[in-house]
Amino acid sequence: MLITHDTECALGLLVELLNTSPEVAGREQLPDVAALDAFVVRGNISEVDSVTPLDLAAVHRLRGQLRDIFTAPSTQVAAELVNALVAAVNATPRLTDHDGHGWHMHYFAPHAALADHLAAELGMALGLILMAGERERLRRCEAPDCARVFVDLSRNRSRRYCDSRTCGNRMHVAAYRARQRSAADSAAVTDDEVTVSVG
Ligand SMILES: [Zn+2]
Ligand SMILES: [Zn+2]
Repeated sequence: MLITHDTECALGLLVELLNTSPEVAGREQLPDVAALDAFVVRGNISEVDSVTPLDLAAVHRLRGQLRDIFTAPSTQVAAELVNALVAAVNATPRLTDHDGHGWHMHYFAPHAALADHLAAELGMALGLILMAGERERLRRCEAPDCARVFVDLSRNRSRRYCDSRTCGNRMHVAAYRARQRSAADSAAVTDDEVTVSVG
């Protein structure tokens, strides 16, 4: 898959945003302006001055829209949602080499509000995944008690868990214990059979 470093960064930010929702995290991870501000700093989001309560409400709304695209039932539906999203915020492709980064594309309109900025950048990143025919890489963690989403950028599309250190490790331990239990069970059965045949 042809996916640039910028798209990869945008997808990382998208996943981080989606995983802040109360449905995923148990409680709202962006409850106030300070949390949103920290998200902006952590995500290294450029050209954002200050964050207001209006931005917070708009980002919460956007998060739901992005989730609808991420979990859309078909590429057709996802494509229509991406188109509507980026059109609504007047996405404006322009080349830039700000802050010593190499030349790359910004899609948000100059001076766009935070939610519009994110809608353009994250919407386009999703659009690039659709263009590449790689929608199946948009995944939900397979651990039964985990609702986090992730983008599987592994070469063979084999990633199953949101994070190999937490969920992946946890599930491997659970599978190992289950194997041990069933091995112990079949050993017990064998003993019975032996007893029966002897008796
Ligand atoms: Zn940039
Ligand atoms: Zn997980």
